[in-house]
Amino acid sequence: MSYIDTDPKNLLSVTQAKLPWFLQHLEELVRVESPSEDPSAVNAAQELTAGWAAALGAKIRRHRQKKFGDVYELRFGPQRSRQKPILILGHLDTVWPHTTLKSMPWRVDSGKIYGPGVLDMKAGVVMALTAVSVLREANLIRPVTLLLVSEEEIGSPVSRPITERLAKESSAVFVLEPAQGLALKTARKGVGHYEVRVTGIGAHAGVDFESGHSAVLELARQIERISAFTDLKRGLTVNCGVIAGGTRSNVIAAEARAEVDVRIVRAGDAGKVERLFRRLKPIDSACKLTITGGINRPPMERKAGTIALFQRAKKLASGLGFALDEAATGGGSDGNFTAALGVPTLDGMGAIGAGAHAAHEHILVEHIVPRTALLAAMLVATE
Ligand SMILES: [Zn+2]
Repeated sequence: MSYIDTDPKNLLSVTQAKLPWFLQHLEELVRVESPSEDPSAVNAAQELTAGWAAALGAKIRRHRQKKFGDVYELRFGPQRSRQKPILILGHLDTVWPHTTLKSMPWRVDSGKIYGPGVLDMKAGVVMALTAVSVLREANLIRPVTLLLVSEEEIGSPVSRPITERLAKESSAVFVLEPAQGLALKTARKGVGHYEVRVTGIGAHAGVDFESGHSAVLELARQIERISAFTDLKRGLTVNCGVIAGGTRSNVIAAEARAEVDVRIVRAGDAGKVERLFRRLKPIDSACKLTITGGINRPPMERKAGTIALFQRAKKLASGLGFALDEAATGGGSDGNFTAALGVPTLDGMGAIGAGAHAAHEHILVEHIVPRTALLAAMLVATE
């Protein structure tokens, strides 16, 4: 047994001593704007972080990408250990475009730290490095793989296979997304995206009304049908969030389209939703429907492996002096991919704060040390 297992006070004080390091590095990272859409900007944030990881003994593998920033695989601890690694999932892309720092600058005010991407999830990534640093100092480092992806905020199109491959070789996955309030996330909905395109027959609304078949009218009717797929009792929701179509009021519209967000709680509902969309038929038979898309993140269901991880975290947290709850959320993360493979996944291990993707995005300073200590303790206590 190590002193970290037996003495939470010691763990807290070692972590507390690293708070200045944490704050300095977080500020540096937040000041490097990294919108998902700009590969070189994301790479700058990745390189900065990889440099810090190297100083903490990481072996670095860079997965180069063409359309997105590069994905970084950072391995800590003994490389030839028999112990499986724990995979820690992070992302350094943000939803914030360049120059956001002008309107929401790095700012420390009454125990809160503001800035683009500070909560989602640059603080989480710096917490992971801090936890590794604590464990190295205590001679407790074990195999840990920190994966920093570059395009999580746009659905992880290129990093998904890397995440899945690393998850399969790991004993557990911790996700550095923000907590839900104060709670860890043990379930997440699956996420789908569909586009519904209608091709009608255009005509002059005054001269030639009867030969037209309106794509806009057809789309409106389809939206009623699609919205009725929602089944709140099953946690299945369908939202037609964007519509477009037509050219002028005096033209019967030849084209219209809708973008649809789908959320599911049960993995089995993916097939059901898919069938419902594929079975849609035009109501006006002169119109044509084209449906594209699908479920891209399977749900993270609340399974035994994840519950066991949560129970351990709850116990360790209580030793560290705080109570821990679990929560389910409708939002997706890269944890959805790993949980769907059956690898125990605990999400919301990152910072505490509010306003992810919103102008008031911030973290709460008082929680940085206890949550980082919890992350370190979980790395030691998990097989
Ligand atoms: Zn995130």
